[in-house]
Amino acid sequence: MGAEPDLDVSPDLVVVGSGFFGLTVAERAATELDKRVLVVERRSHLGGNAYSEPDPETGIEVHRYGAHLFHTSNKRVWDYVNRFTDFTGYQHRVFTIYEGRVYPMPVNLATICEYAGRSMSPDEARAWVAGHAAEIDVADAENFEEKGVALVGRPLYEAFFEGYTAKQWQTDPKNLPASIVSRLPVRYTFDNRYFSDTYEGLPVDGYTAWLERMADHPNIEVRLDTDWFDLRDELPADVPTVYTGPLDRYFDYSEGELGWRTLDFESEVLTSTGDFQGTPVMNYADRDVPFTRIHEFRHFHPERTSYPKDKTVIVREYSRFAQHGDEPYYPINTPEDRAKLERYRELARKEATNRRVLFGGRLGTYKYLDMHMAIGSALTLFDNRIAPWFTEGAS
Ligand code: UDP
Repeated sequence: MGAEPDLDVSPDLVVVGSGFFGLTVAERAATELDKRVLVVERRSHLGGNAYSEPDPETGIEVHRYGAHLFHTSNKRVWDYVNRFTDFTGYQHRVFTIYEGRVYPMPVNLATICEYAGRSMSPDEARAWVAGHAAEIDVADAENFEEKGVALVGRPLYEAFFEGYTAKQWQTDPKNLPASIVSRLPVRYTFDNRYFSDTYEGLPVDGYTAWLERMADHPNIEVRLDTDWFDLRDELPADVPTVYTGPLDRYFDYSEGELGWRTLDFESEVLTSTGDFQGTPVMNYADRDVPFTRIHEFRHFHPERTSYPKDKTVIVREYSRFAQHGDEPYYPINTPEDRAKLERYRELARKEATNRRVLFGGRLGTYKYLDMHMAIGSALTLFDNRIAPWFTEGAS
C-alpha cells in the first residue's frame, strides 16, 4: 500500500474497518489534507463486504459476502467513484420463483399480469391492486406488512414478500420497519429494472481492484488481520478515530446487543453446464425452499470473454439470526433495537465530543446502508466533521 515506515508510529487519523465508508474517509484525508492514515482491518483482506475474488477453478469473479450491485442517483458519489474505476453497463434484473412459476421482481406490470393470468393496462392493474389493498392506505402504513400490503395488495404480498421475508428476517413483518419494503419500487409499466437510480454498473475489473485503488496512497497504511480492540492501547490516546465496526461492540454491549441477520453462502462449481439459471439472481419466494436466492456470478459480467463456457459458479444464500461472533449483515431494527440504538447514539455523541471518535458505515451506525449511501455519508462526514478537526485545530 505504499506505507511510509514510520506511518504506524504516528498516524494523524485512525480508521477502523476498510469497507467503503472507511476507505472513503481514509482516501479523502490522505489526498485532500495530506494526513497520514492508519486503516485497521480485522479480516485478512480489505473492502469489507464488497470484497470479491476470482473463483480459483473458473476465474469467475465471486462476491464473497453476497452480490453487490452499484447504483446511485447522487452525482457527487458517482463522480467520486469514477476516479477509481470504470463501470460496465450492467443493469440489475431479478426474477423470483413462486409455486413453480417465474415472475419478474420488483413487482411491475408483467408481475401483476402474470400473477392474475391475464393482460391488463396500467390503469387496470392499479385498480386490481387497489381492490386487494383497500384495508390500508400507504400513508398510514407503519410497518413492513402494512406497507407491503398497501403497495402491492394482499395476494401479491403473500406470494412474493411473505415467504421470502419470513426466511430473510425470521421476524414478524409487523415488527420490521416499512423502510425495508420501500427499498423495492412498484411499477405500473413493464420496466423490470431492480433499481431506479440514474447511474448503475459494475466495476470493470472487479470490486477488489477498485477498493485497492482507493487505499493506494503513500499516506495510507492498511494493517490487515488486526483487531483494533487489541491495538488501541498502543495508539496515541488522542488520535482522531473513525470507527466502522459494530456500534454495540465499541461500547462493550453496555446497552445490550443490537439484532443482526447474518448470511451463510453455499458455493458450488458446476461442470455439467455453463449456465445454470440464465440470469444473475433468482429469488425463491416459497417458504419451504430453505435459501432465499441463488446467485450465478458469471451473469454479472456478460462482457468477460475469459469466463469458461462449460462451467459456472452458483451460490445459494441462507439467512439466520447472528449469534455472537457471526458476521453481521442486516440490522433487524425491531422497536427494541431502536430503543437500544437511541442510547448508543447518545453515547456516540459524547464520544465524538470527548475523544474525537466518529462512527460510520452499516455496522457503525446500525443503518441498512447501500454502498453508495456509505460513500455519500463518508464524504459528508469528511466535509462536516473530519476536515474541521484538522483545518480548524478543533480539540
Ligand atoms: N423482498 C421480498 N421478496 C423478494 C425480494 C425482496 O420479500 O423477492 C423483501 C425482503 O424482505 C428483503 C427486502 O424486500 O429483505 C429488501 O430487498 P432487497 O433486494 O433490497 O434486499 P438485499 O438485496 O439488500 O438483501
